[in-house]
Amino acid sequence: MHIKYDVVILGAGINGIAIAKALALEEKKVLVIEKNHIASGASSHSSRLIHGGLRYLEHFEFSLVREALNDQQYLLETYPDLVKLRHFYLPIYKNSKRPVWMIRLGLWLYSFFAKHEHKAVEVKKKDFLDKFKSIKEKNLKAVFKYFDGKTDDYALTQQIAQEAKVQGVEILEETELKTVLIDDEIIKIETSDGYVETNLIINATGAWIDEINAKFNLPSSYSIEKLSGIHLVIDRVLTPEPLILETASKRIFFIIPEINTTIIGTTERSEDSNVDDIKIDDEDVEYLLRESNRYLKSELNRDDIKEVYIGTRPIIKSHKDPTMMSREYKLDLHHIGKNRVMHVYGGKLTTFPSLARRAVEILIK
Ligand SMILES: Cc1cc2nc3c(=O)[nH]c(=O)nc-3n(C[C@H](O)[C@H](O)[C@H](O)COP(=O)(O)OP(=O)(O)OC[C@H]3O[C@@H](n4cnc5c(N)ncnc54)[C@H](O)[C@@H]3O)c2cc1C
Repeated sequence: MHIKYDVVILGAGINGIAIAKALALEEKKVLVIEKNHIASGASSHSSRLIHGGLRYLEHFEFSLVREALNDQQYLLETYPDLVKLRHFYLPIYKNSKRPVWMIRLGLWLYSFFAKHEHKAVEVKKKDFLDKFKSIKEKNLKAVFKYFDGKTDDYALTQQIAQEAKVQGVEILEETELKTVLIDDEIIKIETSDGYVETNLIINATGAWIDEINAKFNLPSSYSIEKLSGIHLVIDRVLTPEPLILETASKRIFFIIPEINTTIIGTTERSEDSNVDDIKIDDEDVEYLLRESNRYLKSELNRDDIKEVYIGTRPIIKSHKDPTMMSREYKLDLHHIGKNRVMHVYGGKLTTFPSLARRAVEILIK
């Protein structure tokens, strides 16, 4: 027997789950199909920041930063145990690509867009060095402090999944998608768990999206660049607060203390292979160690690494250099007879509330 759902969502990452919950709140009968586990994709392999993205200001992506900062405030207020404001320190060294005036202007703008009251400030070099005893002083020109959100991405996604279940969403984990047949009347889906029917399918499979569209012949308007990123988990706390630093090639990276560990990341590598075949590249591990050691008094080596994790960002193709491509999301809707197919392209962990709201507006309101 085919069970009929109002909506079938593919992928139980933060976006699929958030849309499922939002549609269930609109009285829709929703099924989520996940081939692995809830939050097993990018939603548990991120830098764990709930942020506007200070560096996107450099590319004049003001609307993206504003929207993300609105979402940040919503998440700070709604999940105070899971999303917290932290002090982020931004030291500027002599050879920095970004001059002090530019950082000051960027932070002023970032504080202006932020909905919380904590403004960015300049910190005395001595105070910074007294606090960050592990950081080198040589060539340090200025230090700024600003505020951004920090979370546990896995726990946050699980929390939204619990809320979705309370609203009646069914989530099938470890379930393989076998066939998707679309005619003018109905969409028939065969999974390893059985058959279901619907008139609306939402593809929220993140970095897997192009592979699914090709395999099941789903109409789509965009394609993605797969940009993997690794994080090193160091076996101890290296700094009292998070640090934002520049690599030798002028990229931004973070050193973020957790309870007993420190995460250092991230990298950006364009990938051609299928997402499941993407592996941690040894060069990326060396790169993060090397870049960190430019700033740390006592050098890190491989023995200090407790774990390395990798995630893949689904970035909408738009620019030649993938690292410069926007983190904006697009909801791409297609009509086939009485059916609709919606794809979720791109996005950030931070923007799941506005993304889910927008999906409901497009589909229902
Ligand atoms: C290295 C890195 C750092 C990041 N840092 C941040 C950050 O600090 N802050 C921030 O806001 N954002 C960050 N992001 C972005 C953020 O993690 C992603 O935008 C977000 O998690 C994407 O969620 P999603 O639900 O779209 O995709 P995913 O979480 O990847 O979920 C997709 C799901 O689809 C499932 N799936 C795949 N194929 C199938 C199939 N055939 N059938 C059923 N299910 C399938 C997968 O198993 C997966 O669970 C980062 C991303 C990366 C990679």
